[in-house]
Amino acid sequence: MSEQSNTLETLDPQDWEQSKALMHQMVDDAFDYTKNVRERKIWQEMPQHVLNTFKTPLPQQPSNAEAVYKELQETVLPYPMGNIHPRFWAWYMGSGTISGVMGDFWASILNPNLGGGNHAAHKIEEQVIRWIKEIIEFPKSASGLLVSGGSMANYAALAVARNVKAGYDIRAEGLKENNLVFYASTEIHSCNTKAIELLGLGTKGLKKIAVNDDYSINIKALKNQIAKDKANGLQPICIIGTSGTVNTGAIDNLNAIADICKEENLWFHVDGAIGAIAMLSHKVKPQLKGIERADSVALDLHKWLHMPFEVGCVMIKDSVEHRNTFSLIPEYLAKNTRGLASGDDWFSEYGLQLSRRFRALKVWMSLKEHGSERFGRMISRNVEQANYLGQLVNQHDNLELIAPIGLDIVCFRYNPGGLDLNALNELNKEIKLLIEERGIAIPGYTTLNNMYCIRCAISSHRVTSEDFDVLIEHVLSIGKEYLIS
Ligand SMILES: *Cc1c(COP(=O)(O)O)cnc(C)c1O
Repeated sequence: MSEQSNTLETLDPQDWEQSKALMHQMVDDAFDYTKNVRERKIWQEMPQHVLNTFKTPLPQQPSNAEAVYKELQETVLPYPMGNIHPRFWAWYMGSGTISGVMGDFWASILNPNLGGGNHAAHKIEEQVIRWIKEIIEFPKSASGLLVSGGSMANYAALAVARNVKAGYDIRAEGLKENNLVFYASTEIHSCNTKAIELLGLGTKGLKKIAVNDDYSINIKALKNQIAKDKANGLQPICIIGTSGTVNTGAIDNLNAIADICKEENLWFHVDGAIGAIAMLSHKVKPQLKGIERADSVALDLHKWLHMPFEVGCVMIKDSVEHRNTFSLIPEYLAKNTRGLASGDDWFSEYGLQLSRRFRALKVWMSLKEHGSERFGRMISRNVEQANYLGQLVNQHDNLELIAPIGLDIVCFRYNPGGLDLNALNELNKEIKLLIEERGIAIPGYTTLNNMYCIRCAISSHRVTSEDFDVLIEHVLSIGKEYLIS
């Protein structure tokens, strides 16, 4: 028996001590890698010989873990996305934390399944959800679920909105006559459009409303569209407000939207993937007034809370409505009154996923280690840095802001004068690419009113003001270089 277990083939290390030594080495390397992130190139193109290694066929026989790690060091570590580097300002990313890494490590060692059950991991996710309620000033009776990110959080919330406001049992009957309409500004994130399409309403189920000069939703236009749609026999069901649009960081007037929703009996959802967590910042919080009145909020914790990907959260004010959308309990998931399969609320009744990873642990460990106020200070500092970058832009005649600075997002372009729109767009694309290819920084980009701009989303906890001095210096010198050549 004992002999048999000694020779039993498993996936555990064949030599525990050797495997532990390798893991220790990885920890040492990972700490150096993170600590020295600024010294390395932020991004570089992968050479062909490296690309070739990613095309080798399925390995059928074992090799040793040391060799696998060596390959990772040679082919993966030198070619990162770049988002943990302080000068990464593209799209909208978090930069990760060491405490988050420790959480993910233990989450994988423990490897529990957060579908349901009576075990510590489940209690930790409940606690993290309660903390998020505190942050966004939702009542204790609200319900939440950690999901992969903002897209899934929005999807889940919009599903509840549709089911509650359709006026009939849409789960049982499916869509009867499709006249249901969601509203949001033209700046709405595309994941909401995808969600509404998948909810069976089609792209036409989302009416996009014009924005003001500051890219927030035009409330008057919103009211007019709702009145017009009602007169035409459509059934408005929900308004999506955005707290921090992805293009420019604009915040919709959440209180005004809440008022309309109340008047018209509509669901009020907030896409807070960028901005909701900024409730932690004393500086930003007043701008988010009204978020506490929402029926549902989607948040991202892997953006401005810096958690390692993936973790977002959907929060629904009425837990019964939340559960009514997703709960379905077959015999193999029936609850017991005692033991592991007991407990009131199983997460599988609040979302699509049954098996779920322990993504709460990194959030729990990070919030305990750093405290919510430190995260709030990091958010406030990013907002100040965005304003600093804005000042630098305003100081130079050849630079111009293309949109008001919203939260931590700055959109600007190089404009030496005398060039038409197309030439300016080409010039700014080239400047952005050269800054990236020369390994100086990764600025983002977008197009506003047909104007291509360099867009910096400043969400790193490692970035300093000097990094923006460097950016501006290079934008100016590359711009000049381009014009001379
Ligand atoms: C990033 C973002 C999303 C999507 O979130 P993911 O975490 O990428 O799925 C949704 N809405 C807004 C405003 C965003 O910025």
